[in-house]
Amino acid sequence: MTALPFFVANRPVQGTGPTFVSTNPATGAANYEVSAASAADVDAAVTAARDAVRSARWRNLRPHERARIIARIADGMEAHAQELADIQMRENGKVMAECRTQVSSAIATYRYFAAVCETLGSDVTPSRGDYVSMTVHEPVGVVAAITPWNSPLTMEAQKVAPALAAGNAIIVKPSEVTPTAAILVARIAAEAGLPAGILNVVTGLGTDTGVALVRHPGVRMVSFTGGTETGRAIGRICADRLIPAALELGGKSPNIVFEDADLDAAVTGVIGGIFEGSGQSCVAGSRLFVQRSVYAEFVARLKTATEALGVGLPTQAGVKMGPLASFPHRDRVERMVEDARKEGGDIIAGGTRPGAPELADGAFYMPTLIAGLTNASGAARQEIFGPVLVLLSFDDEADVVAQANDTVYGLACGIWTADYRRAWRVARAIEAGTVWINTYKQLSIATPFGGFKESGIGREKGISGVRLYQQSKGIYWDMGPLVPPFMDTEDAMKGGSK
Ligand code: NDP
Repeated sequence: MTALPFFVANRPVQGTGPTFVSTNPATGAANYEVSAASAADVDAAVTAARDAVRSARWRNLRPHERARIIARIADGMEAHAQELADIQMRENGKVMAECRTQVSSAIATYRYFAAVCETLGSDVTPSRGDYVSMTVHEPVGVVAAITPWNSPLTMEAQKVAPALAAGNAIIVKPSEVTPTAAILVARIAAEAGLPAGILNVVTGLGTDTGVALVRHPGVRMVSFTGGTETGRAIGRICADRLIPAALELGGKSPNIVFEDADLDAAVTGVIGGIFEGSGQSCVAGSRLFVQRSVYAEFVARLKTATEALGVGLPTQAGVKMGPLASFPHRDRVERMVEDARKEGGDIIAGGTRPGAPELADGAFYMPTLIAGLTNASGAARQEIFGPVLVLLSFDDEADVVAQANDTVYGLACGIWTADYRRAWRVARAIEAGTVWINTYKQLSIATPFGGFKESGIGREKGISGVRLYQQSKGIYWDMGPLVPPFMDTEDAMKGGSK
């Protein structure tokens, strides 16, 4: 089998690192062998990106011209929509309906950032003397985008589209589990007229290719989405190199049901919040808090709904949950449920692989509910990143705010209540980057997204999603009489000296 090449400077490249195999988690069959970038290949990619970002062909493009190319990438993705959805399903096992939704979301992300690119301007700042002062925003240079396997299409779009709008060159290092969607997008971008070297993809293991990229002196910023420990390791390297790192990391998000909530809506929201994508979502509502007065009734309804969820092959219509994205990850989830059982957890639904013979070769795991633990338990503290919900109870608002915030993470939170004053109070008291009230997992590309605490640093999406990939420059333009060679005291008082 010839290994699939990655894509640098608008050309396919056979890497010189050890190849690896992409596996379909629904069937266990090998998809293809994939080429890996060695440190020398990474160096070549960074050199191509650095040359491209400095070239007049890219630097001199006006924002509306850059925006046109970004919009054409969206058109190209639309033309290849089914192919993109198929790739993701084949590599991480997400059900086809979700893959299609994620392709649409990625396309919308390119369109949104094309619009932002065309409309964002520079600022004239209030002057404190006879000069005009301006703030202009310039690209950081070469950006490394390192992405996880759970939602490669959307995560990569959320980094690449704003980084292009900001005028950078980008090198994407996708997860080894989901290596090829980024390659197709880069090919589409080349066809859309993106100059060679502006969008590159290098495949390979995080610990080889990823590390080589983060350490490379030509890389001027890292945008990472993935686990908290990996983010910490990358952040350390970036700190040493004094380059910015945007880190979107893990979560253990609380989903809170008050006794006055619409319980039918809350059951639907809680189920979708944890089991969509087989629980492999950074914002998964993986800690459920139910007010004690309705706990028994709510849990009974939740158990019925969980056991009715369609688990099956991601190609089958009506299936809500496919496999986990890889066999090692399924085994990890399984071990974590066993650990929960050992620490006294009562597995009231799931807790096993499915019995259906047609699923036996895939990395499947049943949707699982664990009761009988406290918020201090391992299962309530560690990110399981699978279809596993820990059920907890609370007495009153103060109690649930304290419990919900008692975590190292701070990515998201759901609140289910009919009391709008309480919804507001709790939303403000929760330490998380996103809060949903009477809904869960609604996301908009126009709204900044990111984590509090160990869930990350920086905000992607929204207009500021472009600024994340720029550095500002102040320009002072004299409009008065000749500037004296040294500031006198009066001038220093007006503007502040350095
Ligand atoms: P990892 O942190 O293991 O990997 C993420 C990416 O980093 C992959 O491309 C991986 O490559 C690469 N990588 C791994 N080690 C290094 C390293 N030392 N240096 C450079 N790159 C490295 O996360 P997962 O892929 O397992 O994704 C799951 C995690 O991502 C969960 O914790 C989840 O919460 C988090 N996540 C966060 C989101 C957010 O927005 N906050 C969104 C989605 C997921 P390789 O795959 O080859 O190892």
